[in-house]
Formats: sequence, C-alpha cells, structure tokens
Amino acid sequence: MSTLEIRDLHVSVDTESGPKEILRGVDLAVKSGETHAIMGPNGSGKSTLAYSIAGHPKYQITKGTVTLDGQDILAMTVDERARAGLFLAMQYPVEVAGVSVSNFLRTAKTAIDGKAPALRTWVKDVNGAMERLGMGTDFGSRSVNEGFSGGEKKRHEIVQLEVLDPKFAILDETDSGLDIDALKVVSDGVNRFHDKGGKGVLLITHYTRILRYIKPDYVHVFVDGRVAEEGGPELAEKLEAEGYAAYVATAKAGA
Ligand code: ADP
Ligand code: MG
Ligand code: MG
Repeated sequence: MSTLEIRDLHVSVDTESGPKEILRGVDLAVKSGETHAIMGPNGSGKSTLAYSIAGHPKYQITKGTVTLDGQDILAMTVDERARAGLFLAMQYPVEVAGVSVSNFLRTAKTAIDGKAPALRTWVKDVNGAMERLGMGTDFGSRSVNEGFSGGEKKRHEIVQLEVLDPKFAILDETDSGLDIDALKVVSDGVNRFHDKGGKGVLLITHYTRILRYIKPDYVHVFVDGRVAEEGGPELAEKLEAEGYAAYVATAKAGA
C-alpha cells in the first residue's frame, strides 16, 4: 500500500506585478488502488497542482508538503519523481523534435528502471499498448508530439502510462479535445491501468463526461486554489447537474 499525500500546499508563480499565489492550501491523499477526480472551473489551479507535483520550475512551493510513502517528492529532481513511481501527463505535452515515440518510450523506461528493458518483451509491450490505443504501427517512428492531433497526444500519454507502469498517475485534462470514440479508447486505457491493481489515479478534469467511463472512488471540487468540497462519485453527478457556480460564489464570499 502506497500513499501520495499533499498537505497544505501553497504555490505561487512570478508575474509582471510580482508573485501570485495560485494554490492556497491544498490537502489531498491518494492511496494505491484509488481513483480520485479533481474537478473545477477553468483557472482554479488544477494544472498548477499537476505542474507543481511534476516539478515544473515555474511554480514555487511556498508552503506545504508532497510526499510519497513519506518521501519528500518536492526535494526530488523530475527524474527522481518518475523513478519514485509518479507519472504526470501534462495538459500541453512538449514537442521533442527528432525523437521517435519508440526511442522516447525506451529512454524513459530505461531511466525509470535503471536498466534497459529486454528487447523481445519490450517490442511486444510497446506494440501491444499502441494497438490497444488504436494507433497504427507507424506511430512508433513518429517524432514525439510533432504534428500530433489533440487525440494522438492523449493516446500517446496513455501508451506511456501502460508501458512505464508507474504507481501513481496524474492525468491533467486527459479528456480535452477528444471525440467520443477517442474518449472511450483513452478511458479504457486508464481503466486497464487501474485494473492492474495497486495503482493510484488522480484524474484532473473540467468536464464530467469522462466520469461516465472512468469511475472515481472520490471526487474533489477544486475552486480558487484549494479543495472546496469532497465526496464520492455522486458528487460528479451533482456537478454535472448544477455546475460549479455555487462553489465559486462560496469561495468568493469567503475570500
Ligand atoms: P486550471 O488548470 O484549473 O484551469 P491553472 O492552474 O492553469 O488552472 O491556472 C490557475 C490560475 O493561475 C489562472 O488564473 C492562471 O492564469 C494562473 N497561472 C497559471 N500559471 C501561470 C503562470 N505561469 N503565470 C501567471 N499566471 C499563471
Ligand atoms: Mg476503483
Ligand atoms: Mg488546466
């Protein structure tokens, strides 16, 4: 049993008018085997939370902790975070010009495991993952994210998730820009990952529709840089019916 724990996390970014606090005391714990959805309006700080856990240099942690089984994640390099078992799929993945998907995956897997994967099973694993995500066989030879459609980026994220096999996956807007067929394929991939057992999933999303395919154990409503409400899957249904307006108004009144 593993736990990813975020405690009283405060994060600022530098802006032209000085540092701006975006996360204002986030508390959240994800245990292995659990799927948590973070839902909230645009601009509430969801991506900032993902980037902060990922170690993006733009985000300054001013207070609080992020730990994985008690280990200080925030003290780790980005590579160390991956080796510790964290996987962070970004909302806007970078292009890696000239690096093929196959080489990218192999380099990442080698870095995480500390040794190169055995070639025979590796090729089978990668091709299998691509096939399950509905990618053609030439996908492995394409440059990472170069000219990828929104849907291809998301499928590529899930191929990475399958192949790298982390303990915890943080998926930011995995559903954005997907048509209904791609949404189903990508959701199936996340569910396969969860069904391996012992995997923690933090699914960050603006829309409730992906939660028709991925069933969260817990739902957190994120407003104005912190968790405003927590509940079970029924909370997602309430949000689908009522939206975020009530939570936003409450956050404003309290500010
Ligand atoms: P969400 O993912 O919930 O839509 P974000 O984390 O992207 O929210 O953004 C939260 C707030 O922080 C927004 O008001 C956004 O403009 C601001 N913000 C995020 N990153 C930066 C940055 N690098 N510089 C300035 N403002 C930022
Ligand atoms: Mg479950
Ligand atoms: Mg975002």
